[in-house]
Amino acid sequence: MLIDLFQRKISYLRVSVTDRCDFRCTYCMDGDMEFLPKKDVLSLEELDRLCNTFIDLGVKKIRITGGEPLVRKNIMQLFSNLGKKIGHELEELTLTTNASQLDRYAINLFNSGVRRINVSLDSLDKNKFKRITRAGDFDKVIKGIMAAKNTGLKIKINTVALRGINDNEILNLVNWCGEHKFALTFIEVMPMGEIGEKRADQYMPLTEVKDLIQKKYSITDDPLRTAGPARYVHCHETNQKIGFITPHTHNFCELCNRVRITCTGEMYMCLGQQDKADLITPLRKSKNNQLLKDAIYKAISRKPKGHDFVIKREENEQFVPRHMNITGG
Ligand code: SAM
Ligand code: SF4
Repeated sequence: MLIDLFQRKISYLRVSVTDRCDFRCTYCMDGDMEFLPKKDVLSLEELDRLCNTFIDLGVKKIRITGGEPLVRKNIMQLFSNLGKKIGHELEELTLTTNASQLDRYAINLFNSGVRRINVSLDSLDKNKFKRITRAGDFDKVIKGIMAAKNTGLKIKINTVALRGINDNEILNLVNWCGEHKFALTFIEVMPMGEIGEKRADQYMPLTEVKDLIQKKYSITDDPLRTAGPARYVHCHETNQKIGFITPHTHNFCELCNRVRITCTGEMYMCLGQQDKADLITPLRKSKNNQLLKDAIYKAISRKPKGHDFVIKREENEQFVPRHMNITGG
């Protein structure tokens, strides 16, 4: 079992299976982002071995993320292999996706044992969607989301609140998600990586989002406290749960139960910190997983108490020098 120095039990692994993406969301990456050479990326067999080693060490939930996980070739092989463990050592296998390929893969995901997915959607306006994602096809994304819904996958929509961009769509999103029985979580933009524009201009505190929602809907705090970063409210009119991930206005680290691995086999113990552990060397050095397990234990003992994201309006903005597509949100 993996327990850190603050007695937090690590039972949740997020795996970025590729840094590549078919979108270039303005808050996530630069318009001309360069991706890693394919030779630096772990094979699917290596990712599978890493995941299985974490399962051996007590991880119960795995989320596949990226970049866009569904653009990775043969990715269903990984879902299918890990899916066989659900109901045994693994409690849940999930996915975070931009939905561009969901139309194609929804059934395979369901057949692998995936039951819930997170879909990132920041706008219901076709033109604005294009402006935010730079490359996304709105109709294809909606088709993908509906295919997932019809397959029986439970959907949570993740929306990054962006000042002056989608702040006039908050109520629309609440309403649309309510209609389709999708859960909805708003996220404050985090200062991850250089993006060619100022984070302070994008940043919209979720206190404002909540105020906007309250003007039209009656919401009450939901007592649900998961080990995740979101705090929830219940929206009475739409009978739906709305989450708020507020790294700036609320520190969410005290219950943190997760670690992340990148597609190059680096382990990050905290999304908002730079410390990392190399897992690729022990993975490749020996077929026996003991070296790998030792490296994981050692890294867990360095898991920091929390992140220290800050967005300040100043000339030289501070940011974590790593884009979100590397560690997968
Ligand atoms: N491509 C997939 C997607 O967009 O769902 C998975 C990877 S994406 C990096 C995971 C999540 O991170 C998405 O919900 C996205 O909106 C969020 N994200 C990316 N950059 C962010 C940032 N700088 N601040 C807050 N959230 C961010
Ligand atoms: Fe791609 Fe997801 Fe980043 Fe958008 S948020 S660019 S979809 S990795």
